[in-house]
Amino acid sequence: MNFNINKIRQDFPILRQKVYNKSLIYFDNGATSQKPQQVIDVLNDYYLKHNSNIHRGVHFLSEKTTQAYETARKTIKNFINADNDYEIIFTAGTTASINLVAYSFAEKFLFEDDEIIISEMEHHSNIVPWQIACERKKAKLKIIPFNNNGELILDEYKKLITQKTKLIAVNHISNSLGTINPIKEIIKIAHSNNIPVLIDGAQGIQHQKVDVKDLDCDFYCFSGHKVYGPTGIGVLYGKQKWLDALPPYQGGGDMIKSVSFEKTVYNDLPFKFEAGTTNYIGAIGLGQAIKYIDNIGIDEIIKHDKKLIDYAHKKLLEIPEITIYGQAEKKSSIISFLINGIHHFDTGMLLDKMDIAVRTGTHCTMPLMKHYGIEGTVRASFGIYNTCDEIDILYNAINKIIKMFKK
Ligand code: PLP
Repeated sequence: MNFNINKIRQDFPILRQKVYNKSLIYFDNGATSQKPQQVIDVLNDYYLKHNSNIHRGVHFLSEKTTQAYETARKTIKNFINADNDYEIIFTAGTTASINLVAYSFAEKFLFEDDEIIISEMEHHSNIVPWQIACERKKAKLKIIPFNNNGELILDEYKKLITQKTKLIAVNHISNSLGTINPIKEIIKIAHSNNIPVLIDGAQGIQHQKVDVKDLDCDFYCFSGHKVYGPTGIGVLYGKQKWLDALPPYQGGGDMIKSVSFEKTVYNDLPFKFEAGTTNYIGAIGLGQAIKYIDNIGIDEIIKHDKKLIDYAHKKLLEIPEITIYGQAEKKSSIISFLINGIHHFDTGMLLDKMDIAVRTGTHCTMPLMKHYGIEGTVRASFGIYNTCDEIDILYNAINKIIKMFKK
């Protein structure tokens, strides 16, 4: 399909809504994306007509829902080019996926004085679970620094690797800077030292082509709600050899083959990691969201993203009172900035009154903010339905705010 922005915008009912009696400009896609009618319809349909718990019933509704759940798994497997359906684990989101790996991996493979490497530009969700694991196992957390453009310093990364390094966890795209990290290279370097890599793909899956075989990543995590799907559902992709090797994270129904007081036998993949009733209708909705973007075409989405970020950079750089944080050579649809002398919170509040939704604050990346010696930024993050006309409105609104503060 060709990228038809008018058609795409029509697919998202929320964009028709007026905020303060004007059309909404939604630039908070890094936090969560809006949902197309196609996803809303599937969720509605399942709750209205087909709802029944999966994997446990012999009746019509249960079989239908189970089938749709497993079809969603297949859709995701195909989308990220995994080898097997059972390498796709449904979780509650990126945070849940990372916590799963951090717990289970540490349980089996992390010991006193071992090391985990993460980067200085990670979201708290890819910092704290590793801190907890390191604390539990008396291991060390080591940090890849980034330069002022917001690019990871690979020479420093190489120097951090030792015989004690057990795992490397980095994000695909920085949620605060928009940097597209060289994950393929990072993985190659790690693998040449026999170290597995987890990629936090919370901002990657909706903006980049993710081919887990080509990347050769060991784990890739993402959230449904950031990729035009429902909240409360996400994915952990793991290579079979790792998922087989890791112990279960949570115990409960579905993750067992048999239970007795003497011995419980765990289920096969993927169910070993899907304890209890999962958000199965969320998973079906996520499958539909993935179909939706696959139908538009990820290459078309990448082109659109590039157009938006290049345009936003060009326009915002025209304003001398603005500092942009993160000017990596490879950047995706996120622009973080401050208007000199104006608190990010004030800018965000004023933009809101001009119908522009942005995010302000640390974006859950406090160490990154510390790097720049700032408390937070204003972040505009774009999605498939955003346009250069909307960026013009942002540009004009920023100029208005600057004038107001000059008075
Ligand atoms: N990692 C990154 C890079 C993110 O941007 C986010 C959310 O903003 C997360 C992890 C956590 O995602 P979730 O809250 O959906 O689990």
